[in-house]
Amino acid sequence: MTKTENIISATARSIPMGEYLVRCLGCERVQPPHALACQNDDSLLRTEYVTKRLTLRDDLPGLWKFFDWLPVKEPLRGAGEKPVTYRSEGLARELGLENLYVSFSGYWPERGARMTTCSFKDLEAPPTVERMIEREDDQVLVVSSAGNTARAFAQAASAANQPLILVVPTTGLDRLWIAEKPSDNICVISVNGDYTEAIDFAARLSAHHRFVGEGGARNVARRDGMGVVMLDGVLSIEALPKHYFQAVGSGTGGIAAWEASLRLIEDGRFGQRLPKLHLAQNSPCAPIYASWTGSKMEPGLCPEGMFDDVLFNRRPPYAVKGGVKEALEETGGEVYGIKNQEAKEAQRLFEEAEEIDILPAAAVAVAALEKAVRSGTVGKSDLVLLNITGGGVSRAKEELEMFMLKCDIKAEPSALSSASHSSYDNDLLAEIDDILGGRG
Ligand SMILES: [Zn+2]
Repeated sequence: MTKTENIISATARSIPMGEYLVRCLGCERVQPPHALACQNDDSLLRTEYVTKRLTLRDDLPGLWKFFDWLPVKEPLRGAGEKPVTYRSEGLARELGLENLYVSFSGYWPERGARMTTCSFKDLEAPPTVERMIEREDDQVLVVSSAGNTARAFAQAASAANQPLILVVPTTGLDRLWIAEKPSDNICVISVNGDYTEAIDFAARLSAHHRFVGEGGARNVARRDGMGVVMLDGVLSIEALPKHYFQAVGSGTGGIAAWEASLRLIEDGRFGQRLPKLHLAQNSPCAPIYASWTGSKMEPGLCPEGMFDDVLFNRRPPYAVKGGVKEALEETGGEVYGIKNQEAKEAQRLFEEAEEIDILPAAAVAVAALEKAVRSGTVGKSDLVLLNITGGGVSRAKEELEMFMLKCDIKAEPSALSSASHSSYDNDLLAEIDDILGGRG
């Protein structure tokens, strides 16, 4: 019996469901289970699971197989696919690597990958939406996104018939397709500005008592959901990889991979060395790369002209306790600034070698791996896990029926910005109420 079979066959049902604490990494105080921040300091919160040894739940579907290490009491109805991990042949041969594994989040039925919004945001949305239900406080979740995140949340909320407010920049509207009929209680607000202005508007909206922001990197459900990439990879490989590659915007995926690795080390079966994080950004719009390498960047024009603008985040959780900087320091990590031309060539290389289309962001990670191989940072027999954070869009669009989300409300970026609400603000809030109330 292999180690994986052993894990799968272990009986899961004697283990209590959903037991965890949320603790502040700064003052180390235990927090309320749904807290996004500590009252005392700016540190990230982290989940501590009672179960230290991960048992795959073969009685649960997809993502929920990792239920032991997800901060929920039960699985969300109707949503939650998992990535697939496979040993690469094509790309491995091209790069001269002997132990290259790919974690693929997207749509690729031949490999068993069925994330229909085609990105790893499908790992973050279901646990986050489930936790909203478990709060039992009737607040409505507000999500701001340039595209993939909005689609993942729309899909999860539609599947579970949960109310949701999506805030997107106007330029992101044409990306709002999902493979499920959108439920009526999703309200789409387009902000006439860029991604940062959409984020800022969503933050102001979330300050209202009826709404709650999803918290981004601060939300343990999002991080632990993304951590499934590392969990699935390590359980498939049966060892912690030496190197982990991912393209990042906010760097949250890097933090999630580090945290999952810490848990896997504590599990005891997969090795004791943290995988080295290799985080890739798209130059020149690369704030984490700039902070880590001490180089300069000119964020003024960003995200214009980027290979993939989902990789741009002006305010990554870099220096906070438990943030990107600490993850890089603890893992001996590296950050790459990948130019558009390098990403373009890497995308072609991957798609030809592995025979599946990938999202531009994922190509940025492939380019970083190429660089690391060329520089000798990655040796040819090293165990490598490459996170392909999105792909299979062409396949999904050919095979699945797609639905477009409609814009319900257009908002100016300055809306809700004064302490005393203008008549414009009051009209806007009433319109949101109408849409959520009228349909729900
Ligand atoms: Zn604290």
